[in-house]
Amino acid sequence: MNPITKEVVVVGGGISGLTLSWHLHRAGVDLALIEASDGVGGCTRTELRDGFVLEKGPFNVMVRDPAFEGLLDSVADEVGVVTASPAARKRYIYRRGRLMCVPTNPVALLTTPMLSLGGKFGLMTGLMLSGRARDEEETIEQVAIRRFGKDVSDTMISAVIAGIFAGDIRKLSLKACFPPVADVDRQARSLIGYGLKKAFGPKKKRHKKKYKGLVSIDGGLGALTDALGRSLGSDLLVNSKVEAIRQVDDGYEVDYRDGEGNSTTIKCRHLVMSSPAPETSRLISPLVAGAGTILDSIESSSLVVLNLGFKKSDVGHPMEGYGFLVPHHETEFPLMGVLWADSIFPHHAPDDSRLIRVFIGGARNPGAVERTDDDLVSTSLDSLRGLLDVSGEPTLIDICRYSAAIPQYHRGHTEKIEKLRGLVATKPGLHLNGNYLDGVSLNDCVRSASELATKLIAAVSRAGAEAVGSGAV
Ligand SMILES: Cc1cc2nc3c(=O)[nH]c(=O)nc-3n(C[C@H](O)[C@H](O)[C@H](O)COP(=O)(O)OP(=O)(O)OC[C@H]3O[C@@H](n4cnc5c(N)ncnc54)[C@H](O)[C@@H]3O)c2cc1C
Repeated sequence: MNPITKEVVVVGGGISGLTLSWHLHRAGVDLALIEASDGVGGCTRTELRDGFVLEKGPFNVMVRDPAFEGLLDSVADEVGVVTASPAARKRYIYRRGRLMCVPTNPVALLTTPMLSLGGKFGLMTGLMLSGRARDEEETIEQVAIRRFGKDVSDTMISAVIAGIFAGDIRKLSLKACFPPVADVDRQARSLIGYGLKKAFGPKKKRHKKKYKGLVSIDGGLGALTDALGRSLGSDLLVNSKVEAIRQVDDGYEVDYRDGEGNSTTIKCRHLVMSSPAPETSRLISPLVAGAGTILDSIESSSLVVLNLGFKKSDVGHPMEGYGFLVPHHETEFPLMGVLWADSIFPHHAPDDSRLIRVFIGGARNPGAVERTDDDLVSTSLDSLRGLLDVSGEPTLIDICRYSAAIPQYHRGHTEKIEKLRGLVATKPGLHLNGNYLDGVSLNDCVRSASELATKLIAAVSRAGAEAVGSGAV
């Protein structure tokens, strides 16, 4: 039997694959999105249980790009977009057994017990003038120490980066993780001078943001990915794991197995790999020499997310704020960070309850995913009881383990990706898409997938026009 034919096949229905497919579907491109699990979203999934909104993966988005705004606008009739409460602007850092509020103005900065006197001096002088950026690629820690000194790097920067990458600032590259910040670092020895120049110099026309601050969806971020999945109709195949791909004369053949164990082959002109790096490596290694070695060299941090619900009366701390992060040198404290979920989005817990989201693991504690549920819960409770004055037992426990949670953009990552893209470009019609390429945040994944969609739509319509011109259709 001849295989089914599609113009485009997308492998993997996380936010990257969904965004790409959503654009293609709207443009009328004949496609199939093939997803291995029984639902879309990848790590962007939500469970609604007993009045709680349980985010399994990402919790909120900073919408910085028109592409994400477009995506949200398109589903706005179906799902409500919600912004974080103003209380969430307050953030804390765990230091020496206490929670300390992150200073947001010069007076608070001078009086905070979070930094030593030397640390405060380093931060102040670092804003005025710092050493010149080195020629070779620097880690986030190297830049932070060069600019602000070791105390600021160890205490503030390591905690913030743990919250984004669950990674190690001694290995992560500033250029790869935060390209715009690295640009500023190269251009400006004085950050205050840079800020003044920006404020009083010629203004570039900037995109006016529609969604300000941190954003989520009424029914959790999973409601967004579900809505995108629904919009694809029969172009979406779930419970369908891609097992192998082959290059053929005018494109690719994709073999997938459905939930009943039946194997099917789809033929396509364009094949987009939107699966995580390790699975993409497995699938494209037989096709693209050298690609597997690069993909396999991209490390990912592992992570455990615990959603713990409590009776309101059992939590003595007001928990007004975003939560707290833990610097890497606090090695005695076993948690990486804690979010006060219903302080950020009040609808995440019933009125009589509180929802605490605990992160354990990351680069500093890679064995956490192997630990038992009981062990993870008792570690969390032991840490939270004193700090947040938690008395009773949790009324709800939800645990998610990620053995490969977030790709780590270590030094050399940008060059690795350039090389990988060069190798893949030798196979016409094969494309890469996903969080190991152009940024790990949801905003980055959506931007990158939207850019690829624009190129693909142009390629597909060009091919269509040429076929009409040659009388082939
Ligand atoms: C715990 C956690 C918290 C996070 N918090 C935030 C946050 O608050 N804000 C933020 O902006 N970002 C956050 N991130 C990062 C962000 O969520 C991810 O980078 C992003 O969701 C990755 O999307 P993706 O589509 O590239 O990959 P994935 O979500 O991993 O999707 C890949 C998909 O491919 C499918 N697949 C794999 N193999 C096959 C196969 N052979 N055949 C078919 N399908 C296959 C998988 O089933 C999956 O659905 C967080 C990430 C994690 C893990």
